[in-house]
Amino acid sequence: MALINQDFRFQEKRERHPYLRWAVFAVASVVLGVVLAKTSSNSQTADSLPSFKEVKPSKDEIVRLSFELTLPELQAKQKIIDELNQESVKQWQELKVKSGDSLARLFKRAGFSSQQLDEVMKSGDAAKKLTKIFPDDIFRVLTDDNGQLQALRYEIDPETYLMVEREYGELVAKEYKHTIETRVAHAEGEIDSSLFLAANEAGISESIIMELAGIFGWDIDFALDIRKGDGFKLLYEEVFRNGEKIKDGEILAAEFVNDGEVYRAVRYTNPETNRTEYYSPEGKSLRKEFLRTPVNFTRISSRFTNKRYHPVLKKWRSHKGVDYAAKRGTPIRAAGDGKVTFKGKKGGYGRVVMIQHGSRYTTVYAHLNSYNKKIRVGKRVKQGQTIAYVGSSGLATGPHLHYEFRVNGVHRNPQTVRLPSSQPVPKRYMADFELTTAPVFAQLDLLTRDTQVALAESE
Ligand SMILES: [Zn+2]
Repeated sequence: MALINQDFRFQEKRERHPYLRWAVFAVASVVLGVVLAKTSSNSQTADSLPSFKEVKPSKDEIVRLSFELTLPELQAKQKIIDELNQESVKQWQELKVKSGDSLARLFKRAGFSSQQLDEVMKSGDAAKKLTKIFPDDIFRVLTDDNGQLQALRYEIDPETYLMVEREYGELVAKEYKHTIETRVAHAEGEIDSSLFLAANEAGISESIIMELAGIFGWDIDFALDIRKGDGFKLLYEEVFRNGEKIKDGEILAAEFVNDGEVYRAVRYTNPETNRTEYYSPEGKSLRKEFLRTPVNFTRISSRFTNKRYHPVLKKWRSHKGVDYAAKRGTPIRAAGDGKVTFKGKKGGYGRVVMIQHGSRYTTVYAHLNSYNKKIRVGKRVKQGQTIAYVGSSGLATGPHLHYEFRVNGVHRNPQTVRLPSSQPVPKRYMADFELTTAPVFAQLDLLTRDTQVALAESE
């Protein structure tokens, strides 16, 4: 009889709050499971209620489920459990770790006694993980009416978490593993106005779009080159925790059609260097090379530093580039394939050329005497191509090239910055490369905008 009453109550709640439905159902199942276990001694077997037996989750599942609920959901769930057990309702709260916090400090701030802290630390080997906690970590703690700690939850890393539970009066710590899986997803899209819009329509996250733009950024300018009718296909990973997607993984392969030209990329790890990069189907790196120095110089007249004395301004200021002293008129070469983004005068820089390489890199050439007449803003340049000539325009004491190398807008030392590798797949690994990537390209081949239309029509 009691069972039936409880069942009605769940029906009611389910309607009022559909999101809680399966949490409530899970709790119901567990509670009923407990009731069944208790009543089985009264010669009633679980088989007499097969519908409940089928949905009864394992204890492990409940533990994980409860970990993933939001705090209000957890509170609601706790309330149901406590009411069913005819106990006073226990309270969950979240404690956020601040910089410099130890568990002791955190507990003290939350009003727990040192005895409670002791009890947690002695709750088992798994609790040793609590000696190292980090700012912004979140603890969830459950307390009863008397403020006594009943449970504690703590995410050790994205895959592991700690549960401390009061069992028969004593706190017991246990470590659990989430189930992490990687699945391959695919997406296709055709561009009408912008890549972002098309990617959005295809259901791709911003991080994947940025990665896609980064992969092809050496060949395609996603701000200026994109045309209506361009399209893309990609295979990428999705990471799931306990069956729920938590984030996107890496792009495995991608194709981009720009103005009728097809670009393809595949992710491959060079077995020799163990470095993972994107390659064309022929095994060429999609990144392009850089010259370490873009000019034949006589000497370096000033190095990259965050502070130096400026001889013209007679002030201390940082020098975010390298000065290569050279005869006036010495040709300056583009450090890498790219696109001219600026050509003209710019304050103390004098005459300047800026080149954008891929999506991350920019090089800057300053104090120029003159430009190569073929150089125009928006036009592509090849590595080694002469772009300008050494001079002393702007704030310069004598003819030299002031050269800057920026990565994602941040000035880096051109002499030491790690330049992107652009080596093709080594010859002796080409067989391995082809063997590894052929099935991936085959999968990519299966994705066409035509099949997508066909699928949509058949649905
Ligand atoms: Zn300089």
